[in-house]
Amino acid sequence: MRVLLVEDDRALSLGILHALQREGWQVDTLADGEQAAQVGTLREHTLAVLDIGLPRKSGMEVLRHWRAQGVTMPVLLLTARDDLADRVQGLDAGADDYLVKPFDLPELLARLRALRRRSAGLTEDVLCFAGLELDMAGHELRCRGERVSLSPRELALTELLMQKAGRVVGKDSIVARLSSWEADFSENSVEVYIHRLRKRFADLGVVIKTVRGFGYVLEAAEGAGGSAE
Ligand code: CA
Repeated sequence: MRVLLVEDDRALSLGILHALQREGWQVDTLADGEQAAQVGTLREHTLAVLDIGLPRKSGMEVLRHWRAQGVTMPVLLLTARDDLADRVQGLDAGADDYLVKPFDLPELLARLRALRRRSAGLTEDVLCFAGLELDMAGHELRCRGERVSLSPRELALTELLMQKAGRVVGKDSIVARLSSWEADFSENSVEVYIHRLRKRFADLGVVIKTVRGFGYVLEAAEGAGGSAE
């Protein structure tokens, strides 16, 4: 889960950043509308939190630019005051939700979870596949009721594989989803993490198959107990 956070109030931006990171999300922060307009069109993010009052380009202009470029990621707007015109304009411009400052961080997090569910076509924060149950709100993977201990990145990779279970997930899209600009997450790192997950999944009844030249696919293991390659 990679979020683009565009907010020029440094203290607020840091507060949101830390809250999102505690939830296990990868976050990229920007404080400038012009940059945000460009970065959003790279389609590397699952969600965006976008302030309206930004230097160089307003959040509203950024949002219009994204939508004109066909960028469909859910966008939550942050508005400085309870201004009806702003909210109406924002929703008309393609925002999926908005919050009026000041707001409580738990509310922001709950709304982002709801946006993620909607965009993934889910009604609750749980992904299920072949005996695995991923609780995205509680950051926990369970297999037949038992907790499987995973690091935040392993969990993020598992989420990506489970969302597309049975279909190929490209190596490049794993890199895009799991890296932040400051972290050096390469295709080699993907291999390292896939290797670790394979070990963790060895007895859980699922396997991660390699599709050479493309990426990976999560499948139910054939036969009982699964197989470690
Ligand atoms: Ca601002």
